[in-house]
Amino acid sequence: LEAQLRQSQKMEAVGQLAGGVAHDFNNILTVILGYCALLEMSAGGDGTHRHEIRQIADAAERAAALTRSLLAFSRKEAMHPELHDLNGVVDKVKGLLSRVIGEDVSLQVELSALPLVGKVDRAMIEQVLMNLATNARDAMPRGGLLGISTELVDLDEEYVQTHGCGTPGPHALICVSDTGVGMDADTRNRVFEPFFTTKEVGKGTGLGMSIVYGIVKQHRGNIHLYSEPGQGTTYRVFLPLDPAVAAGVVPAVPVPERGGS
Ligand code: ADP
Repeated sequence: LEAQLRQSQKMEAVGQLAGGVAHDFNNILTVILGYCALLEMSAGGDGTHRHEIRQIADAAERAAALTRSLLAFSRKEAMHPELHDLNGVVDKVKGLLSRVIGEDVSLQVELSALPLVGKVDRAMIEQVLMNLATNARDAMPRGGLLGISTELVDLDEEYVQTHGCGTPGPHALICVSDTGVGMDADTRNRVFEPFFTTKEVGKGTGLGMSIVYGIVKQHRGNIHLYSEPGQGTTYRVFLPLDPAVAAGVVPAVPVPERGGS
């Protein structure tokens, strides 16, 4: 618990710093992109420096995309929660996910037969799924299986206590598993840390999982991971459901697996 507290304080501090810098940086990028557009128009006639101007604009746009990630991470983005069936949300991004993971990875989606209605920000949950899928793909350079399943679980007091946070009651459990390289204990402990990456320079920002963490926490949910080197990774995302809609459905409490953290 103490480690968790330290972790969330650290995330809070880095989040505030990153959010502040990202906000100001974004204003600067707007100026750069604005003048690039002006230059592109005035260089339109004879094409002088057209290529160079495009390079500048491309770089500024990449920086703007990174800034958006930083803002998302620092939770400066307002949440717009609405009632959604999470099965529908997962189903809708299926097409997009299969494009992210490429040809060598097969995608297997198993949706719960029960409706999983909760107050969620749809775009944010989509981002969670995209980030998890992107990491799964990167963990399977020679192909493999990406599994996504949804389930209704009713978390009891004891489960919530032993896992340190969250609220008891009906939850959607979204499992995202891959058959990739997996993680050792050190990586497992640092996955959610902002800017922690094991990827090559330029390939990873180390923000994907901290954004996921931030979004799940914003939804008063929970995320656990189970991973061993060479054995793949499973993420379990718990999102609280609307108790009125979920009422009357048989509960099931999941048992943590190997290598949990
Ligand atoms: P990035 O993907 O930019 O490196 P993330 O925050 O998304 O940043 O992930 C941080 C690190 O956690 C990754 O560099 C990787 O080492 C590890 N990781 C996350 N998900 C997985 C996974 N499914 N399989 C193996 N390693 C993972």
